[in-house]
Amino acid sequence: MITHMKNLTREELRAFFAARGEKPFRADQVFEWMYRHGARDFAEMTNLAKSLRENLENDAPLLTLKIEKSLISTRDGTRKYLYRTADGCLIESVFMKYRFGSSVCVSSQAGCRMGCVFCASGQNGLTRNLTPGELSDQLLLARRDTGEDIRHLVVMGTGEPMDNYDNVLKFLKNITDPAGLGLGRRQISVSTCGLMPGMERFLRDMPQANLAISLHAPNDAIRTRIMPIGKVCGVRDILAFARRYVADSGRKITFEYVLIDRLNDRPEHADELAGNLRGLNCLVNLIPLNHVAETGFAPSSAAAARAFKERLEAKGVGATVRRELGSDIAAACGQLRLAAGADQPLNGDHFFENPID
Ligand code: SF4
Repeated sequence: MITHMKNLTREELRAFFAARGEKPFRADQVFEWMYRHGARDFAEMTNLAKSLRENLENDAPLLTLKIEKSLISTRDGTRKYLYRTADGCLIESVFMKYRFGSSVCVSSQAGCRMGCVFCASGQNGLTRNLTPGELSDQLLLARRDTGEDIRHLVVMGTGEPMDNYDNVLKFLKNITDPAGLGLGRRQISVSTCGLMPGMERFLRDMPQANLAISLHAPNDAIRTRIMPIGKVCGVRDILAFARRYVADSGRKITFEYVLIDRLNDRPEHADELAGNLRGLNCLVNLIPLNHVAETGFAPSSAAAARAFKERLEAKGVGATVRRELGSDIAAACGQLRLAAGADQPLNGDHFFENPID
């Protein structure tokens, strides 16, 4: 049976090698080659016996993705990657450069079944969950391609991470394992539309990592119009969880808020939101909507976004307006997939700015 190496934890790798009559330390060697050195094939693993490398090459593939296309911003070094999975799914990731270091935003699913109406990625539903290896390779291939030491990760691309929780958790454990890449948990941010079971598990499993909740509205009446999940998990439930998250983890929580013209960007919406968040250690990340013709929604003006932010701040709620990175290649977001034969464009606005504090 074919086993993708990066779908296994280090413990599972040990069992894999033990079953082949190999010493457990082989697992540590392979793990280090994959995550610390970003090896693309077993031939690079020169401290393994040649016969073992050849056997592994045949029945334990290392790479789960192939770079189909990439675009590089000449302004700020942002790179957008289109990857193809072994079964032909097309997924996107974004590499970004910040003052504090480099970051990658990865997708957690091929498609999405959450159905947020302002989002092009979810329009065709879910194709499938991405595996831990496919999640890792989005980061590892970007690191190898850019030659940059990536120390920050955001799981905010296409898909709902809490709807693919087990694979996302295994991926996070693998990339934070000190025997490999050793990414700091505090340098990781995961964004959710508000799937409560996953958020509860995340608080228990990864309390040191950052959580961002896509709120997008100050009340259920507006939220349920744009996010079907709002009917399952209301604003009140999210706020109650957020207060517990902050108390239990000691971390600030981020709320994502896509600004949609006249739907959720009026002064009274800012006031209601500020009232909801009073006293909570949080940051509101305001994101002007990316225009998607089929949705019928329009982005808020820059002036409305600024006024919304200032109104929140005046009431004591910290807020940022997303900085545009890779603006010279933004138009190609989704067109990467279209150009490669995908039937549905991706909305580039999934790829949010890293809210790491
Ligand atoms: S915004 Fe996120 S959760 Fe909602 S449909 Fe799009 S990918 Fe899914």
